Amino acid sequence: MSPPTGFEHAADLPADRLPARRERLLRSAADEAGVGSLLVTGQANVRWLTGLDSSNAVALLLPDRTVLATDARYEAPALLLGDDLEVVIDRRPAVTLVRLAEECGQLTLGFDEEQLTVFQHRSLSRAVGDVMPLVPVGDLAERQRARKAPEEIDRIRAACEVSTAALAELVAGVRPGDTELAIARRLEVIMAERGADDRAFPAIVAAGPNTAAAHHHPTRREVTRGDLLLIDFGAQINGYHSDCTRMFVVGDQPTEWQQRLYDVVDRAAGAGREALAAGVAVASVDEAARSVIAEEGWADAFGHGTGHGIGLEVHESPSVNATAGGMVQPGHVVTIEPGVYLPGRGGVRIEDVCAVGSDGIEVLTRAPRELLTIG
Ligand code: ZN
Ligand code: ZN
Repeated sequence: MSPPTGFEHAADLPADRLPARRERLLRSAADEAGVGSLLVTGQANVRWLTGLDSSNAVALLLPDRTVLATDARYEAPALLLGDDLEVVIDRRPAVTLVRLAEECGQLTLGFDEEQLTVFQHRSLSRAVGDVMPLVPVGDLAERQRARKAPEEIDRIRAACEVSTAALAELVAGVRPGDTELAIARRLEVIMAERGADDRAFPAIVAAGPNTAAAHHHPTRREVTRGDLLLIDFGAQINGYHSDCTRMFVVGDQPTEWQQRLYDVVDRAAGAGREALAAGVAVASVDEAARSVIAEEGWADAFGHGTGHGIGLEVHESPSVNATAGGMVQPGHVVTIEPGVYLPGRGGVRIEDVCAVGSDGIEVLTRAPRELLTIG
């Protein structure tokens, strides 16, 4: 899938080789937490390291080999993954692999602590007693997964292209009298027809005053002439997601307050994209967008973060908000999505997916970014 315009900033990004990802993760776990082996239980992390898409798989990274355990439902796809993975089929994959690590003589076992429940941690600890302590390694896998390889960015770009093309087809047919629900479901069908493997998440379609709810669930409310219409949607291709929000006015020119609201959020989104660059503090990107909205007196009407990482999960590292730590890095792919929500009247959000290179960003969601009249 070759992109229409190449991503020219990919030179220093990690290669898309799964064994290299596993080696790098295990090396970092050794350096940062002093562990010799690592148990990976988060499903997106397991997929990133092994290629297996499942709801119940665990990977054990040992210095000389990787063992993937899953249950019988995923046996066939697991066995197709390649010779460099040992596959174990078991109903309790995590317990089995913890015991295996102990049998292999591991003195400590790291685990991805954002992914294990207290209940799971207790049962795994019980399985090995005091012999081999379980050591948390923080969000190491999530942090490494946040830096995408060029091949991963290609997939996100493809998901963005399919979904934004579907939006253009959708809005050409929206008419007053259509319900939010019907519009949402129609968009998802068009994305599938255009090559999406799935929707990224249930599309948010909000009309009129409903646009004031940041995460509105589509209802049977009919769109009417003069309504603001918010559509927040995404597709999934090969496991990678897109996420985009565009605004429209139905059957009429925007009123003065609609246009003003839109222009402020548009400027905030532009300021966020402008600030996004390798080497800047993640929190400064949020500040750039937020300050535009605050200057208009709407600070309290922007109640969510400016954006989030996106990839194998719709929401992943790094979160782009006021309390975010760390720096923006080449390979990060994040949304920039400021919004202003005025209860009883309406709201505006504009959202784009941006890939960060070492000397610039690429906006992957290339849908027109004006307040267009449709219907
Ligand atoms: Zn969104
Ligand atoms: Zn989003």
